[in-house]
Amino acid sequence: MARNAHGPPFAAVVFDCDSTLSTIEGIEELTAEHPEIAALTGAAMEGRVPLEEVYGRRLELAGPVAADMERIALRYAATTIEGTADLIAALHHLDKCVEIVSGGLLPAVRPFGVQLGVPSARIHAVDLRFDSSGAYVDYDRRSLLARAGGKRELLEERFPAGDVALVGDGATDLEAKDACARFIAFTAVERRPDVVAGADVVVDRADHAAVLPHLVSVDELEVLRAVPGGRFHGLLARMDGGQP
Ligand SMILES: [Mg+2]
Repeated sequence: MARNAHGPPFAAVVFDCDSTLSTIEGIEELTAEHPEIAALTGAAMEGRVPLEEVYGRRLELAGPVAADMERIALRYAATTIEGTADLIAALHHLDKCVEIVSGGLLPAVRPFGVQLGVPSARIHAVDLRFDSSGAYVDYDRRSLLARAGGKRELLEERFPAGDVALVGDGATDLEAKDACARFIAFTAVERRPDVVAGADVVVDRADHAAVLPHLVSVDELEVLRAVPGGRFHGLLARMDGGQP
């Protein structure tokens, strides 16, 4: 299907998780500084090796236990990019379908996403299996999100009309560009030259208020401005870099 690139309004907005909604890469939180895991993540996110080649290897090296998932969810929450929850609330106010599509670990990404206001059924990541003692058994090898090109396939499944904007920082996000009307590179945490070069829009400020004007139309901004009580006033004021 040919790409239908266009500007706002969009029916749906999809966010990557790691280094996009929070400043961390969840899988790197599984162990103390682990150079090999960090190198594998970097290689996959820069597109130098296919994701499926590193997915299982990173987990084998890290040896997660079930209790790690709650810990990572808390780390995600503690390192959330400014404006994230407000941006998601504003998009929901405009009746957008908001989803998280992540190559991260579902048992950690899901509670974080739910806390941000995204419905559980709209949070997609790679599930893990643990045994009764909480030891890691395997990851969901059928998951599209544990392999190269998988985000694109999942987005085509979820949004066949392609009326969706994607916000992300990695090579797997760029791969999904053709399934989207607009791909926004969020580079405040990680700036990857290939991703920047391929993006429709680049946002480098560590505040999701700066993403808002690239996701909604002028008319939709007016709707947000008119919300009683000035609920989105802070978000709108910071949109162009100003202070609320
Ligand atoms: Mg990312």
